[in-house]
Amino acid sequence: MTHAPNDAAARRAAEPVIVYPPDTLAPPDLDAYRAARGGAVKVDEITVAPREGGCFRAAAGQFIRITSVDGPQVGDLNLWSGTDLSERFFSGKTRALHGTHVGIGDRLWSCLPYLRPMATVIEDTLDWYGVDAFGGRIHDVIGTRCDPYTHQLLSGGDYHHCCHSNLIRALAAETGLAVTEAEQYVHDVLNVFMCTGFTRDTGQYFMKASPVRPGDFIEFFAEIDLLGALSACPGGDCSTTHSSDVAACYPLLVEVFAPVAPPEGWSEPQINGYSRRHRD
Ligand SMILES: [Zn+2]
Repeated sequence: MTHAPNDAAARRAAEPVIVYPPDTLAPPDLDAYRAARGGAVKVDEITVAPREGGCFRAAAGQFIRITSVDGPQVGDLNLWSGTDLSERFFSGKTRALHGTHVGIGDRLWSCLPYLRPMATVIEDTLDWYGVDAFGGRIHDVIGTRCDPYTHQLLSGGDYHHCCHSNLIRALAAETGLAVTEAEQYVHDVLNVFMCTGFTRDTGQYFMKASPVRPGDFIEFFAEIDLLGALSACPGGDCSTTHSSDVAACYPLLVEVFAPVAPPEGWSEPQINGYSRRHRD
């Protein structure tokens, strides 16, 4: 332990500044989104089997609902532009802009150099949960996804149904890419329904039993054409373990709805306007 300087208390007392204050971003018009959702009809659905992954597509202006069915289950979500796999969900910048967990009104942003909203959260039946006594919240963008490499590192042995592998198999099946090629496109996820936080004393990432129950859902508005992949995490509700076949695991339902007319005042976001010169 290093010796604290004489002015340690003063240095620690500096006030935190929100890096990206929420009022720097124009809020979504949730009333317009919900009005458009009112008349929408279902155009597609998939059921993601336990410890498996599945892909779905939604056009810009459509709605995506992810629902827990049969039992409490956490899902790991990847998103790509429906026309360009190089534009993918950017969990790190989404975290920086909106916080460690996302909820109604927050957006899922795409990676550089695109950096535009891919989807907007418009409904969340776990919105009531807020923050618990441990600092746990729902739908995080802090965990990366369970993967067989970390499992190999910490526990040894091959396990093939981590979310990372489930997402790869789903993307390979959807696109025709080889598994090794598809792996290059799988990225850090939105942990749907997962209850997570950081311990106050050591700052370690923790998970705890998800409060999700059958019938709970989160719903997104697709701001651009989307290809999505969802894994039903082998951790089930992530109350005890993951990266094995031990936990009780359940399916997840993904439904896509098309509105009669797009939300009033909405237009598809364009890719980021920066010149990309990176020098004067
Ligand atoms: Zn997982």
